[in-house]
Amino acid sequence: MPEGYAGEGFFATSLSKAVGTARANSLWPLPFATSCCGIEFMATMATDYDLSRFGMERLSFSPRQSDLLMVMGTIAKKMGPILKQVYTQMAEPKWVIAVGACASSGGIFDTYSVLQGIDKVIPVDVYVPGCPPRPEQIIDGIMKIQELVKNEPLRRRYSPEYQHLLEKYQIA
Ligand code: SF4
Repeated sequence: MPEGYAGEGFFATSLSKAVGTARANSLWPLPFATSCCGIEFMATMATDYDLSRFGMERLSFSPRQSDLLMVMGTIAKKMGPILKQVYTQMAEPKWVIAVGACASSGGIFDTYSVLQGIDKVIPVDVYVPGCPPRPEQIIDGIMKIQELVKNEPLRRRYSPEYQHLLEKYQIA
């Protein structure tokens, strides 16, 4: 329930809060998994940790139908443009989690061939630390995204700041 005023037979809130609550509880994740962190995500989806407790277990492998990009694993520099293409194919509003050390910073692979963090090619909203992160950490990352989504103003995606961010990544 979003913040608002409740009384005998009525509840009032702002449109922004109602939309934020609806979006936060209906995220459709796109798992972009390339290595071991992806296996940890499978455990997060399985019965012990049960990501579907949020009612948003419907993973989408189509960028056009998802709004939460979860990048899990080592991303080679050659894969950077593909990751960016997947991101640009997703409709607004969209959010990104970098799951694990490799996606966040290149991890232990400080080499010529590995992207030193996906934020070199796309904007990231939440970073989940760990090599690999435990399922609890992945769930915590998703809950942080939910908080961002709930509190995002409806006009943010049209703001000059957001356009500037996309321009910086040559996405606009
Ligand atoms: S952070 Fe660790 S567990 Fe995750 S993909 Fe990299 S090496 Fe594998």
